Amino acid sequence: MKGSIIITGASRGIGASLAVRAAAAGYEVCVNFHSNQGAADEVVQKITEAGGRAIAVQGDVAVEQDILSLFKTVDRELAPLTALVNNAGILETHASVTDMTFDRLQRVMTTNVTGSFLCAKEAVTRMALSKGGQGGGIVNISSVAARLGSPHEYVDYAASKGAIDAFTIGLAKEVAEDGIRVNAVRPGVIYTDIHKLGGEPDRVDRVKENVPMKRGGLPEEVAKAALWLLSEEASYSTGILLDVSGGR
Ligand code: NAP
Repeated sequence: MKGSIIITGASRGIGASLAVRAAAAGYEVCVNFHSNQGAADEVVQKITEAGGRAIAVQGDVAVEQDILSLFKTVDRELAPLTALVNNAGILETHASVTDMTFDRLQRVMTTNVTGSFLCAKEAVTRMALSKGGQGGGIVNISSVAARLGSPHEYVDYAASKGAIDAFTIGLAKEVAEDGIRVNAVRPGVIYTDIHKLGGEPDRVDRVKENVPMKRGGLPEEVAKAALWLLSEEASYSTGILLDVSGGR
């Protein structure tokens, strides 16, 4: 049995693609979402119609109580947890660092960094061999922004992804003996709604000229890489940062 997987932010974009593919790979899937219940229900329906098992669970990864109740719901309703993808992430309107407010910085860091830490904490508590779990895998969705820096757009977001890279490397070493592998995927520019948050919905088409492959990526191209890292095919890989970015 493959057990269950929690994918944060799985109602749309990369997370939704991951959810459908994880179900096809045999996981029972928790489709976490923030506010778009309709989109999450559609992902669950797609999985169920294909013969899989999934539930949609609302929860803000920036709120610890929401995270705790998300994991408790999965304990109650799905098979034992064997995988987590920390996928939920936000960015804010293009701005220079000199224009960034305290509140903005807090929102970005709490959602992207603290949320990933707290979800991983709950997952490790359940999956670690030393705690009676059966081992498992964690994939953090980082970004190539961590090494590009995103000047005058969102250095805060890029820095939050830099934190995710360090978190991936450190946690991987902490839990390796507990049968848990921790890796990150660093997407380049991918066709999803996230670019609307930055105030430029068509950002991918502008930036793609700077991509050696001269195109934006698709959510499923990121999802496939994340699922590979979770699979037995990647059994000796932990603490790696896998770029899925068309060479950028
Ligand atoms: P997206 O299309 O904007 O979807 C975001 C998802 O996250 C939605 O399911 C949304 O739920 C959920 N979400 C947002 N805030 C949340 C919160 N506080 N708690 C729980 N869920 C929350 O984003 P995406 O482009 O697929 O991005 C997924 C990940 O890939 C992010 O970590 C992002 O930083 C990373 N990434 C994306 C790109 C890119 O070009 N797209 C590039 C590099 C890295 P609702 O539907 O309920 O709002």
